[in-house]
Amino acid sequence: MKTVTLRSGRIVPALGLGTWKMGEESHHRAGEIAAIRKAIELGMTLIDTAEMYGEGASEALVGEAIRGHRDGVFLVTKVYPHNAGHRSAIQACERSLRRLGVDAIDLYLLHWRGSIPLEDTMAAFERLVGDGKIRSYGVSNFDTPDLEAIPDAAQIATDQILYNLTRRGAESDLIPWLRARHIPVMAYSPVEQGRLLSNQKLVEVAKRRGATAAQIALAWLLNQPEVIAIPKAANTRHVEENRAAAELLLSEEEVQALEIGFPRPRTRKPLEML
Ligand code: NAP
Repeated sequence: MKTVTLRSGRIVPALGLGTWKMGEESHHRAGEIAAIRKAIELGMTLIDTAEMYGEGASEALVGEAIRGHRDGVFLVTKVYPHNAGHRSAIQACERSLRRLGVDAIDLYLLHWRGSIPLEDTMAAFERLVGDGKIRSYGVSNFDTPDLEAIPDAAQIATDQILYNLTRRGAESDLIPWLRARHIPVMAYSPVEQGRLLSNQKLVEVAKRRGATAAQIALAWLLNQPEVIAIPKAANTRHVEENRAAAELLLSEEEVQALEIGFPRPRTRKPLEML
């Protein structure tokens, strides 16, 4: 499995698992737990969740799925912007810890920029690190001007952003900004919530390779330096298929075909979010 080294020195797999919309319906629970456990078994040990997902239901599901496997997992969760104040962030983190059933979160992200001053959020994150409740912190959905507004942006472990073949706007200045500071990108919705998978240009590359469209989309992301992709898959078969993408090295012709099929925007576009 390809890995990415965070600023802390911690090594994480470049392919993890997203869990948005999981944990919300009891009749899907057993299958979702099986999918999370399969991901861990196959080395996709970075699991992404958020207090927002099902208002805690996803964190509770992840907590149940990782019981007995905590040490082998890198847990990422996110705080709502309206909970990201000095005291509120600490309380929100404690609620997340309870739902997850763990003593510490590996990476705690501000879900998107809200109206609470970033100084307050960063001070709360520092306090949480000092108290051993989180091991590192970062942001999500931050465009370049948002990153520049962080008092000490060098401290952030990642920016989790919408990034896939059809969402390449971040390549103009956001991703170069992060790379210059060795801050890995965490790419969410890597298959555009499934919408990318029927794209004919992608399907053609996949057919020629004897792979699936999802695998090519993920391999394209993993082909980039310092990018972590977190596809969500509640279906164990999808987890296995996605895992195999981490072993798929694209040829120069395949990369070229994707460049032509999915060109990056010529002018700067503000960061999009889902
Ligand atoms: P996504 O990962 O692009 O797509 C998930 C969808 O693709 C699901 O319907 C899944 O089906 C399907 N899928 C996955 N692998 C597949 C495969 N090999 N073949 C066919 N279908 C496949 O979208 P996402 O859930 O929006 O993004 C991923 C994760 O990023 C989220 O779960 C969340 O953790 C995070 N995220 C963060 C933000 C943010 O603001 N920070 C926003 C969006 C997402 P099944 O579930 O049926 O397997």
